[in-house]
Amino acid sequence: MKIRLITHPINKIKQVILEFIHNNHIINWTPLQKSALMLVLACAMSFSWLLWKGYILMMPSLWQWANLPLVKSQIWLNLITLLLLALLIIPCYRYKDQEWAQKIVPLISVQFFMLMLCHDGYLIGSISPATMVGYVGTIGVGLVLFERKIVYSAFIPATIILAVCTYLSMNGVIPYAPLFNFTAFRHAQTNPFWLASMLFFIMPILGVCFVLFEILLTQWRQRETYIQRLSQLDPLTNVLNRRSLNTHLELMHQQQFDYAIVLLDIDHFKKINDIYGHHQGDQVLIEIAQCLSKNLRNEDIIGRFGGEEFILLLPHTDIIQAERIAERCRHALQELPVFSTQNNPIHISASFGISSSTFANDPYLVIRQADQALYAVKASGRNQVRTFQQITHIESI
Ligand code: GH3
Ligand code: MG
Ligand code: MG
Repeated sequence: MKIRLITHPINKIKQVILEFIHNNHIINWTPLQKSALMLVLACAMSFSWLLWKGYILMMPSLWQWANLPLVKSQIWLNLITLLLLALLIIPCYRYKDQEWAQKIVPLISVQFFMLMLCHDGYLIGSISPATMVGYVGTIGVGLVLFERKIVYSAFIPATIILAVCTYLSMNGVIPYAPLFNFTAFRHAQTNPFWLASMLFFIMPILGVCFVLFEILLTQWRQRETYIQRLSQLDPLTNVLNRRSLNTHLELMHQQQFDYAIVLLDIDHFKKINDIYGHHQGDQVLIEIAQCLSKNLRNEDIIGRFGGEEFILLLPHTDIIQAERIAERCRHALQELPVFSTQNNPIHISASFGISSSTFANDPYLVIRQADQALYAVKASGRNQVRTFQQITHIESI
């Protein structure tokens, strides 16, 4: 019997949205794809105008508030605009590999949008709430999607045009908001037709801006976290790099708890490179880092200190515990099954030097002491664990 798992439609939509955001759509789109998005939004805007005008024509009770002949003539203009916008979407896909299209189509799209904004803004009032929301929203979306110079090349003229229209309207040279029949309004600001029209224009603009900003901001935050994480890691082994190790070290020192530091160096690693090649050597380093990570506690920190040297920062750890952890890692590395591409076993071992914050007040001095202990192990045959205290004790005898 087959069991069908039914996914709730809301969960499905949520999953699609999350995948869309996670795959960095929009933010990683080419200028042509972004232009296509802008043109689709312009089409939607033009279509909403058609709906508004069509609704007025169907409702005789509204005729007194609107400039009917202008509404009718504007329907044709809206249809032509819609057609032109749809035609402009074609080159976005047809010439998607052409460099000239990547430059010109965004410019034309933004200019076209600006022209629509000025034209429609003038018809419903150059400083009406809907025009202002459209103006600010489009600049915001434009700046996020396109190069600044493209956006400003459209919006500086748009600002001038809207300012001039307002000035001419103030002086009675041209009518203000010619689509409305203001003589029939008692108070324009509270007229239901005016208010409903403003709401009709403003709500979709706010909705689109909200969705776009939310998507883009989420993607920006994700990208920032990812880049930040990358900047902390060693690209080969994926353990912490030297810079972030120093940060952790200084933080541990500031918090003033006891910690131990283990430095380890792979024995005769040059031979592995010489026999199996550098690429194979890299793979061995990756496996060593994974093996060490597995043998540490959750709070321990592992980093790559240099070529084939690793460092372990062990918070709240005394020298005895550190020795035990280092011994566990040494043993795990010695037993690590690593094979070359020809399936030959590669023998690995490492030398470990340890010191603790109880013996030095400066974290970099603790590292130097661990390094001295490591050096002593190398000098006395390798593949062992030794603490700084042991070597100083031996030296002092
Ligand atoms: P010892 O036991 O004295 O430490 O001997 P060793 O051969 O490990 O030490 P040596 O310092 O002579 O050589 C270190 C080698 O590690 C040389 C260098 O090419 C290699 N190495 C350093 N970084 C990398 C790396 O990222 N990838 C690979 N494949 N090799 C590396
Ligand atoms: Mg070395
Ligand atoms: Mg070495």
